[in-house]
Amino acid sequence: MTDRADYVVVGLGALGSAAAMELARRGHTVVGLERFALGHSRGASHDTSRILRHSYHTPAYVRLTQQAYDDWARLERDAGTDLVTTVGGVDLFPPDAAIPPLAYTDSMSEVGIGFDLLDRADVEARWPQLRLPDGAVAIHQADAAIVPAARGTRTMQEQARHSGADLRERHPVTAVRDLGAGGLEVETPYGVVACRGLVVCADAWSNEVLGHLGVRLPLEVTLEQVTYFRPERPEDFAPGRLPLWIWMDDPSFYGFPCYGEPTVKAAQDCGGPIVDPVDRTVLPDPAMRGLLADHLRRMLPGSGVPVRSVRCQYTLTPDRDFVLAPLPENPSVVVGLGAGHGFKFAPTFGRLLADLAVDGGTCTDLSSYRLDRPGLTDPDYQAHWLV
Ligand SMILES: Cc1cc2nc3c(=O)[nH]c(=O)nc-3n(C[C@H](O)[C@H](O)[C@H](O)COP(=O)(O)OP(=O)(O)OC[C@H]3O[C@@H](n4cnc5c(N)ncnc54)[C@H](O)[C@@H]3O)c2cc1C
Repeated sequence: MTDRADYVVVGLGALGSAAAMELARRGHTVVGLERFALGHSRGASHDTSRILRHSYHTPAYVRLTQQAYDDWARLERDAGTDLVTTVGGVDLFPPDAAIPPLAYTDSMSEVGIGFDLLDRADVEARWPQLRLPDGAVAIHQADAAIVPAARGTRTMQEQARHSGADLRERHPVTAVRDLGAGGLEVETPYGVVACRGLVVCADAWSNEVLGHLGVRLPLEVTLEQVTYFRPERPEDFAPGRLPLWIWMDDPSFYGFPCYGEPTVKAAQDCGGPIVDPVDRTVLPDPAMRGLLADHLRRMLPGSGVPVRSVRCQYTLTPDRDFVLAPLPENPSVVVGLGAGHGFKFAPTFGRLLADLAVDGGTCTDLSSYRLDRPGLTDPDYQAHWLV
């Protein structure tokens, strides 16, 4: 059976759901294809929470965060629900930190984002739950916020359907054919969808889908783990009492105040093993949990005992920059990939991917996220994931 649509979106995690929402909002016919059930936990957009922040290492990213805050506010208005919980955030830099603070302070200063530079005494006076080594410094940014992962993604799916998108779960894409001027055909076990444009947001499975068009990206999929700890006094870790925090060293860790439950969530950034998304485990990794618990015992001693862990995938480009671009050889196919830090930009990804699919371009400078950049094309490029 062959269906027709203006656009097909492959993958309905946060990014694909946002793209389907935006294309349908603009009046285009959209078919969204998802291999698993909507809301599944095999990818990168499930679980409770994600960090939304301005503090980034380049002015381009800081500017993109300004769009992200606006796009989340627009989604809240359209959906008539609160999605952004502002709690403030601190980037914590021990002496000789592997991730230098200057890139962050310079980038935010250049864009005009306010922040406070704090020393150890300032931090521990303000947040007595935190313990830092001598000589540590911190950047506090008051707008840092928590956005809901699964609920945020579901909200974008509901908005997409509300605007007429046809979202099909358990429809794995098994083939993609480029018919040149005739457009594209996207095949699933249930039939074919003919379309004029294709948006690929398949994250860990991007190469499986793009492989049908002879494209392969230098991606690594890592199996990350977040762990929830139950403090004896959860009130001390409530929003307003504890900010979001990121430990800017190697290893790098990050964590949340309590969010919807009396636990604190924390994790290591890029601490997971490289896996194949097709047959990866869902079981907790005791060694990863132990390393994290050791760090919390030093930095957040009241955080308590681990009560559960959740696995989740990062899909990493060598330069840890996103992909937000058309295929150089076929502009009717555009690719979105969040490189392990894309959730905060999901509504913005949706808007920019729709611009690229419909207009072939956008007013935002996306040159850092092109597919023909050295980070993706230079075989000698030295991968660096800690930013
Ligand atoms: C532990 C963890 C913590 C994170 N924390 C943050 C954070 O604090 N802030 C932040 O901004 N980002 C964070 N991220 C990153 C962020 O969650 C991801 O960048 C984002 O969720 C990626 O969304 P996606 O839609 O591209 O991927 P996914 O949600 O993985 O969606 C891809 C979809 O494609 C589908 N698919 C694959 N192949 C096919 C096929 N052949 N046919 C049909 N469908 C297919 C998959 O089933 C999947 O649903 C974190 C990620 C992890 C893992």
